[in-house]
Amino acid sequence: MQPFYNEQQQMLATTVREFAENDLAPLADEVDTNEEFPKTQFANLAELGLTGLLIPTDLGGAGMGYRDFMVVLEEIGAVCGSTSTVLITHTSLGSETINRFGNESQRAQWLPHLAAGEKIAAFALSEPQTGSDALGLQTTITDDGETYILNGTKLFITNASVADVFAVFVTADRSAGYRGISAIVVERGTPGFEINEQHGKMGMRGSGTAELVFSDCAVPKSNLLGNVGDGYSIALKILDSSRITVAAQCLGLAKGALDQAVAYAKQRHAFGRPLATKQAIQFMLADMETELDAARLLTYRAAALYDDGLSYGTESAKAKLYASEVAGRNVDKAVQIHGGIGYFKPTPVERMYRDQRVTEIYEGTSEIQRLVISRAVIGEI
Ligand SMILES: Cc1cc2nc3c(=O)[nH]c(=O)nc-3n(C[C@H](O)[C@H](O)[C@H](O)COP(=O)(O)OP(=O)(O)OC[C@H]3O[C@@H](n4cnc5c(N)ncnc54)[C@H](O)[C@@H]3O)c2cc1C
Repeated sequence: MQPFYNEQQQMLATTVREFAENDLAPLADEVDTNEEFPKTQFANLAELGLTGLLIPTDLGGAGMGYRDFMVVLEEIGAVCGSTSTVLITHTSLGSETINRFGNESQRAQWLPHLAAGEKIAAFALSEPQTGSDALGLQTTITDDGETYILNGTKLFITNASVADVFAVFVTADRSAGYRGISAIVVERGTPGFEINEQHGKMGMRGSGTAELVFSDCAVPKSNLLGNVGDGYSIALKILDSSRITVAAQCLGLAKGALDQAVAYAKQRHAFGRPLATKQAIQFMLADMETELDAARLLTYRAAALYDDGLSYGTESAKAKLYASEVAGRNVDKAVQIHGGIGYFKPTPVERMYRDQRVTEIYEGTSEIQRLVISRAVIGEI
């Protein structure tokens, strides 16, 4: 338990840890092996009020903040990476786009269902030809008077295999750059909207990735979020805040790896004594704990800045960059401490090793985080 958690966060951590150990951990291997979307687990998260964690109470949510979400994600990420990815995408990407940028009637239409977990949200920015460079997106929106017509393809969209509500980023005029980009909500089942599952991921295999294809897909004009041309700014703002939650997920991966490594080092004997008595192993565990703590403090600072309405963009990039790389070092050491068995399923560290890798890629690669941070460091040249 962290000394800087308030009493409510201590209780939240205890409740979610119990839930994660009892309900998520036993199914984590199955979710991974079968590329199975964690539907039951998501329903259980909804029962605990966690699918609407950031949504205001008057719209059916829990009205909590990013510091609270960070506590939840560390506990979930420690046992099931896929479930933490699903929750992040539903909450801080999909639902938050509507919560922060939707008008009153859009928020009333979708948020109570998303908070209750009756509907699942997704966030569709990336495309086959562009990921890091969102300005290059090619999915078009045209105004036909009555409705907006969408054409194009989105790729790698998390939760999409089961999601009901999609925040989709589109351009009316590629030559207009960011001014041409808009954000619009598209619901599953809209004619001209096809969802094709993508299989074969290295890790986070239960997170329901799919390609979205829009072919003359007519979407009600009332689904536009903000004004025409607001989309690029909406995407950047949502990614800035959601990165805090990816950092928190990485704390979970780093902590899960450490927990597994400590338990194994105590029970495995080599040369007549437990591994945990060897100084080489002890020092690895010490480094894992120290780096995890440093990542936790960076993440907590970014979450606190966001909750308190202060500037947080550079701090969220630092937290995501550092926490994802700490998670990488921790899962690597945890496999090393397990020796040969760590290379085999169903040892949890084998799965964690694969799950971690994408945290340095999605929601802005490590290179993109370094770009954000270096811009703040260097300023005008
Ligand atoms: C499992 C998974 C889930 C995902 N979920 C979603 C989702 O829900 N919604 C969504 O919209 N997207 C999602 N993505 C897409 C993800 O956000 C992109 O893959 C990511 O942003 C990188 O884009 P890219 O794959 O096009 O790589 P590119 O942008 O082509 O980058 C390739 C390499 O070049 C580097 N690079 C690019 N530009 C620069 C630069 N200016 N300077 C230095 N290096 C640079 C990158 O860092 C990277 O190493 C997901 C991806 C994965 C793998």
